[in-house]
Amino acid sequence: TTYNPLIMIETSAIRIEKTTQSRINELDENNIPFGRLYSDHMFLADYKDGQWQDLRIVPYQNISLSPANSALHYGITIFEGLKAYRNKDGEVVVFRPEANAKRLNISAERMCIPAVPEGLFMEALNELLKIDASWVPSAPGTALYVRPFVFGMDEYIGIRPSENFRFMIITGPVGSYYTKPVRVKIETKFSRAFEGGTGFAKAGGNYAASLYPARLAQKMGFDQLIWTDGKTHQYIEESGTMNVMFMIDDVLITAPTSGTILKGITRDSVLTIAREWGVKVEERPVAVAEVVAAAKEGRLKEAFGVGTAATIAPIATIGYEDEVYDLPAADDSFFSRKILKQLSGIRSGEIADKHGWIYKI
Ligand code: PMP
Repeated sequence: TTYNPLIMIETSAIRIEKTTQSRINELDENNIPFGRLYSDHMFLADYKDGQWQDLRIVPYQNISLSPANSALHYGITIFEGLKAYRNKDGEVVVFRPEANAKRLNISAERMCIPAVPEGLFMEALNELLKIDASWVPSAPGTALYVRPFVFGMDEYIGIRPSENFRFMIITGPVGSYYTKPVRVKIETKFSRAFEGGTGFAKAGGNYAASLYPARLAQKMGFDQLIWTDGKTHQYIEESGTMNVMFMIDDVLITAPTSGTILKGITRDSVLTIAREWGVKVEERPVAVAEVVAAAKEGRLKEAFGVGTAATIAPIATIGYEDEVYDLPAADDSFFSRKILKQLSGIRSGEIADKHGWIYKI
């Protein structure tokens, strides 16, 4: 564990109230409904008078909010998403949680939300996962999804930065996410983000604004959108809620992270391993025209989303304007397959964790 000891908190600072009615028997590892089942406990802390206080773990339950709550009206809310896995020895491990703690605070700054000290984040995560360890499934492809979030708690209807906040963590078991390769549409009208905006932050409003264009694409038979830059719509940014990568000939290409692109932890992990394997990697603006030309010429070997939800989501079809381009079906020789195997192996403990990415509970 590498969190800063200066802001490490005593475990005893977290008040713990355990449930007397566990719902663990509702968990069927072979049939997990996505995003519907939550573990027995949740973590809460309140920011008042300029500091985080009243750290507690209590039975999962509804919370009460003022109707004038600042998050409800103005979207003063940010979140993170990470997963805990059961490794081959039955231990509970989390993939790169310190990176999520850091990114939460990058989002926080943009939304005038106070930082959550990394030590507090790690201690809360650790204690919560210890208490709800039995909720971490072990069937292949399953995990315990962890959702930390921070939101404004002011009871004030005026627009201004909030002064009171709540930090919470809830968790819930999830099965494998996208099972079949996805059909994506390159979006050329709507934007997810723009320079000077909040694209780099995991702020609630970014996701709210993406739903309508995504729904239009779904009506056209696509699973999700490839977002392009907000100004010209000529450069590819992300795919749905994942970063996106292309293998053109033998070069792995992805957009550089900037103000408009979320800095994915999976993205960073994939690029790190690709470089170690000697794969040619280019982080540079990816023109739609380049991808479409490569697809026409048969040089677009692979396209895939990368993110916590699915780790790797292979793209089967890309729609652009009135054309659709089908990509070759992935086999074991594909980079996307190999990298998925590598990351799964690191998490299960079958492959050595030489980067120190695995955090044991
Ligand atoms: N982009 C967006 C917009 C996302 O919401 C996510 C999911 N957090 C990602 C990329 C992928 O990030 P990560 O690999 O850290 O899950």
